[in-house]
Amino acid sequence: DLKGKTAIITGSNSGIGLGVAEELAKAGADIVINSFTDRPEDHALAARIAADHGVSARYIAADMSDATACRALVEQAGGCDILVNNAGIQHVAPVEEFPVEKWNQILAINLSSAFHTTAAALPGMRAKGWGRIVNIASAHGLTASPFKSAYIAAKHGVVGLSKTVALETAGQGITCNAICPGYVLTPLVEAQIPDQMKVHNMDRETVIREVMLLRQPSRQFATTEQIGGTVVYLCSPFADQVTGTTISVDGGWTAL
Ligand code: NAD
Repeated sequence: DLKGKTAIITGSNSGIGLGVAEELAKAGADIVINSFTDRPEDHALAARIAADHGVSARYIAADMSDATACRALVEQAGGCDILVNNAGIQHVAPVEEFPVEKWNQILAINLSSAFHTTAAALPGMRAKGWGRIVNIASAHGLTASPFKSAYIAAKHGVVGLSKTVALETAGQGITCNAICPGYVLTPLVEAQIPDQMKVHNMDRETVIREVMLLRQPSRQFATTEQIGGTVVYLCSPFADQVTGTTISVDGGWTAL
């Protein structure tokens, strides 16, 4: 039961972040939803989660590519007990054609944001003697594929950052872990399908089964609820001694 705990989930107005927010709210946590936009529907989403689960929920706009904004998000939330670093983007291009701005943006959003929010959240967690930091990495935090250099470098970095933070907080009631999902059907994955169809000259169904889920032996997408449930487990007393590690939710991808 996470009643009385506050969870910040970065990049949570869609996809996996939203699924994680829903499961944490279901478990009783108060929720801070985030993305870089500041639209009425973002705030309405927080209100809907609060009403559905009987918790308090707020939307705080902050651009996770901006170091100052990352730290300000945690300040504005008044600190947090649970920090889920989930914001992430993808870009697919061969390394010698990879746009420099895209490289810098992906490293900032997918990796550096977790450094900044963690640095801002840790003093409050230490003061309470309890905290959970869950970084949403990827199967691409443990293995590689062509054309995703920035994403894979950032996700491997997230796994390394998680281990380091775990060592710095060990024995202090704080844990830090990375979840490594295989393919989860979300807008981020949906957006890759046309590119992959072009690169491989295949129709949608074939590219999903034969290319995207080729390395996922189950040939099934994971769900956002399953990623959310894994976060809830990491926040439970069962996981008090689980720190500095990765949990794969990848249908067998990394067993291949
Ligand atoms: P998504 O595009 O649905 O969600 C990404 C979220 O990040 C959105 O809420 C978006 O608004 C937010 N975001 C993007 N740029 C931001 C910025 N600058 N500041 C703040 N928020 C920003 O994608 P998703 O698939 O749900 O991905 C979520 C995370 O899960 C990412 O880190 C992604 O790398 C990781 N992941 C996804 C899959 C998958 O198959 N979908 C697999 C492994 C890992």
